[in-house]
Amino acid sequence: MDLAKVLVIDDEEIARISCQRVLKREGIQVAMASTGREGLDMLMREPPDLVLVDLKMPEMDGVEVARRVRSFDPNIVTIIITGYATIESAVAVMKEGAYDYLPKPFTPDELIIVVRRGLEKRRLDRESRALREEKAAMERNFITMVTHQLRSPMGAIFQYLEVLLSDIGGELTQMQREMLERAKERLEGLLQLINDWLDMSRIQAGEILNRLQAVPVGSCIDAALTGLDFTAQQKGIELTTEISPALPPVQVDPDSFREVLSNLISNAIKYNRPDGYVRIRASEREGWVVVDVEDSGLGIEEKEIPFLFEQFFRGKDKEVRRQEGTGLGLAIVQRIVQAHGGKIEVKSDYGKGSTFSVFVNKADA
Ligand code: ADP
Repeated sequence: MDLAKVLVIDDEEIARISCQRVLKREGIQVAMASTGREGLDMLMREPPDLVLVDLKMPEMDGVEVARRVRSFDPNIVTIIITGYATIESAVAVMKEGAYDYLPKPFTPDELIIVVRRGLEKRRLDRESRALREEKAAMERNFITMVTHQLRSPMGAIFQYLEVLLSDIGGELTQMQREMLERAKERLEGLLQLINDWLDMSRIQAGEILNRLQAVPVGSCIDAALTGLDFTAQQKGIELTTEISPALPPVQVDPDSFREVLSNLISNAIKYNRPDGYVRIRASEREGWVVVDVEDSGLGIEEKEIPFLFEQFFRGKDKEVRRQEGTGLGLAIVQRIVQAHGGKIEVKSDYGKGSTFSVFVNKADA
């Protein structure tokens, strides 16, 4: 393992030398500078793990050195040696990004303890950074794996089932047809799950903020309704839209926002009753543009409301369970809304219906 590197910056030679002697005995590599400027020059040429700097120095003091070290590389740990260790000076020093301070006079053991603690922090920071990077790389690989290795073969299986069901491969008995239909339905569910899951990963990749633009709410709602109006009609559900006059445009990523609305509208249709209604309203409230999706459906039990937005959560109600679902829709909705800096609220009356309200920024905000 590499030796830990410490840079000692102190205008008093005797102080520098004694720190060096103590730390070298501990197997630490020590560099020394007599002014802040010289120390910073050395630090940029060969960054140390830790800087030990005296608070009181002519020209550039320890607080200023700590500030510059932090702006050069916030991962370098700075410890300030102070002659007058008052609480105020310690607080001031820590505010400038120093990790710790050492009041003078100090014994060799005190110096060792403080430096060791600083080096340990540096090591832990490094390890957690490496773990975070490793985790992000694994997630990226996993997404690629899912997309190519799972989705493509499943798409192929789907095609084969369709071909078999069209009798091209020979006539099917009633029983074979039913089994293949069931296989196809299950596969559709699985493909939906993978697509939802991929959507979720894409939101985490944080691209939404780069795609924000001003869009009229009406066009987002129209885009979200494509296809769903037909589903509603088939189930005999009345679908209405009402947009307040002179409503300002919203600041959204149009594709993601359409997905939010279509998820909410599709739930409102899915968890509705025959001949029910879905009312979509867009208006301005509390400085936000709010889209309410109100349904006359099953409603949600009070105790389930806190869990609605969790990944894979599905209501316990047996009417809910009769519908196909992955339990990812609302988790995706919430992530997208939060990535926009917005929020989502739910009001529900169990057995009567629910209203999901999405709050997003106005474009001129
Ligand atoms: P899914 O619909 O695939 O189950 P969602 O994340 O979209 O997943 O929804 C999670 C759960 O929230 C649903 O299983 C259901 O219990 C409840 N839910 C969502 N929207 C409604 C709604 N409009 N009315 C009643 N329950 C709802």
